[in-house]
Amino acid sequence: MRGLNVAVLGSAAGGGVPQWNCRCPVCTLVWAGDARVEARTQSSIAVSADGERWLLINASPDLRQQILATPLLHPSKGARHSPIEAVALTNADVDHLAGLLVLRERQPLTVFATGQTHDILSDNPVFDVLSRDVVKRSVMRLNEAIDTGFGLVIRPFAVPGKVALFMEQSDAVRIGDVTETTIGLEIAAHGKRLVYIPGCATVDASVRKEASGADLLLYDGTTYTDDEMPKLGLSEKTAHRMGHTPMTGIGGSLSAFDGLSIGQKAYIHINNTNPVLIDGSDECQAVQAAGWTITRDGMVFSL
Ligand SMILES: [Zn+2]
Repeated sequence: MRGLNVAVLGSAAGGGVPQWNCRCPVCTLVWAGDARVEARTQSSIAVSADGERWLLINASPDLRQQILATPLLHPSKGARHSPIEAVALTNADVDHLAGLLVLRERQPLTVFATGQTHDILSDNPVFDVLSRDVVKRSVMRLNEAIDTGFGLVIRPFAVPGKVALFMEQSDAVRIGDVTETTIGLEIAAHGKRLVYIPGCATVDASVRKEASGADLLLYDGTTYTDDEMPKLGLSEKTAHRMGHTPMTGIGGSLSAFDGLSIGQKAYIHINNTNPVLIDGSDECQAVQAAGWTITRDGMVFSL
């Protein structure tokens, strides 16, 4: 397992597939047991340079279920053990934070996040269940590489985004701001490079530059079209308003990385409304024809 190992723990956006209260066309197929759509948990990946010590990127509300489903992450020595050495957070969305609560029980860990995201954790005392004497909170600074000490080097970079939904304070939310609020991560080991961007409002020149040369790009696959949620009558919010890039239309991610040298391109953080989740759908075929993989829970990339 020496190399850059990437395990997809969860491939869906917030709510998962199916979402508990949803009867959109995709969720309806899953509720009916239709084999064309696989159920998916909320997005998170685990990364390792040796197959033994793992970094989680984001801690989804489904983390306990994801650990149960992933033997690589089971405790395997002594009375208390976990192969999970650290967690890195890309923003403070509930679907990226809530799983931290699963990691209590006094297991030594490091939580890597930007200062802004750490402030949100500190302002919410429920996260003190991660005892500060055993769980180290390490601040990541934009564009500064951090050596995790277990073979992986992480470098955070800003991407156009927005504040977490529960932190929105007015109707005039700024979309596309480049701050510490939403970041992408470059994870490097053994000369290989993963670029992880689960939430991004637009693919601009800086995002293209970060993705260029990646051995694997895992990118925000929230919706297929910008108006997908409003059209289904599920929300008034477009993908852009939610801080995400649609796959198609003006600025769509499907072609936004064209011309760059990228080993593999795969979508993650896929919303349950996205028709690419239906195997064999026109949208699924279009995405695959454009050279993208649609991730599933349990998928492993060995770089
Ligand atoms: Zn749905």
